[in-house]
Amino acid sequence: MEQLLKDLLMSNGVSGYEEHVAKIMSNALSKICSSVEIDNFGNVIGKLGNGKKKIMIAAHMDEIGMVVKYVSEKGYIYFVKIGGVNDSILPGKLVEIINKKGEHIKGVIGTKPPHLTTAEEARRPSKHTDMFIDIGLSSREEVMKVLNIGDQIIFEPNAGVLHGDFCYGKAADNRISCYAMIKVIEFFSKIKDLDAEICACATVQEEVGLKGGKTSSFKVNPDFALIIDTTPAGDMPGIEEKISALKLGKGVAITMIEAAGRGTIVSQKIRRIMLEAAVKNNIAHQIDIIDGGMTEGAIIYTNREGIFTGILSIPTRYIHAPASVFNIKDINSAIELAIKTIEAVVEEL
Ligand SMILES: [Zn+2]
Repeated sequence: MEQLLKDLLMSNGVSGYEEHVAKIMSNALSKICSSVEIDNFGNVIGKLGNGKKKIMIAAHMDEIGMVVKYVSEKGYIYFVKIGGVNDSILPGKLVEIINKKGEHIKGVIGTKPPHLTTAEEARRPSKHTDMFIDIGLSSREEVMKVLNIGDQIIFEPNAGVLHGDFCYGKAADNRISCYAMIKVIEFFSKIKDLDAEICACATVQEEVGLKGGKTSSFKVNPDFALIIDTTPAGDMPGIEEKISALKLGKGVAITMIEAAGRGTIVSQKIRRIMLEAAVKNNIAHQIDIIDGGMTEGAIIYTNREGIFTGILSIPTRYIHAPASVFNIKDINSAIELAIKTIEAVVEEL
């Protein structure tokens, strides 16, 4: 696995706490952009080239996680969830609490062993509000010496190769797209004749209401915005093909409708441009029409007087879990199709 991709997956940045991943993004972008800034909201915006069209690429860099809420007298840590986390995945997981000094404090989300669980308790689904983190200290006093209320909590960082092109990692949603965005910018940094300015926006706080996409697209005010994000793949036990037909290794998904229309409904014109770009250039792709879930495209395309928006989604298994599975081939087809879409948009829009 390429080092940049690994660094992005291993880095931390629960929504509102993106400084660490923002530093990786701004370092990578400064090597290939003419300017890079971090705006008031925390979005990293890199600019490149100039010309009559303004193109925005957006990839959110925040991840779902938790934040320290309360420490009990006995030193157990209670938390709030940030973003969509299923309570059922939490018990027994290894986490890291990151304090003000940037130190990572290891902890385990405690769970009652079956030996001590009554039949009635075993039937009841556990709620995150009853869960606690054990960091191996036995009093509130000791705990408060190493962390503060309000510190972010992430799942234990992990990234690597499973087999062949199949890889795993924490926060694949959406660090794999941050990586893809950098590769797209890298490509355009070597092309001198594109009649456009490209703004790469690594956005914040997507997982808690698409916020960074809203402010950055207002600031950039592009003619076209291309969002790169992940989308849940359906090729695993328990998901019928009619619910999701997206498969790993079969190419990037061109998202057309999110959340049954409550999210982005991509315009017919942009759908045509993106599909043509994929077919003409022989890029592996799938079509994503999804019942639940949306990207920051939903807020960007309704910003200002309406912004032409396209969405590329990389199919990913186990999104919002401590480790997700993805395929390198799909990242590569996302990079290729992003490039060809932008070239086509500059010509045709
Ligand atoms: Zn996402």
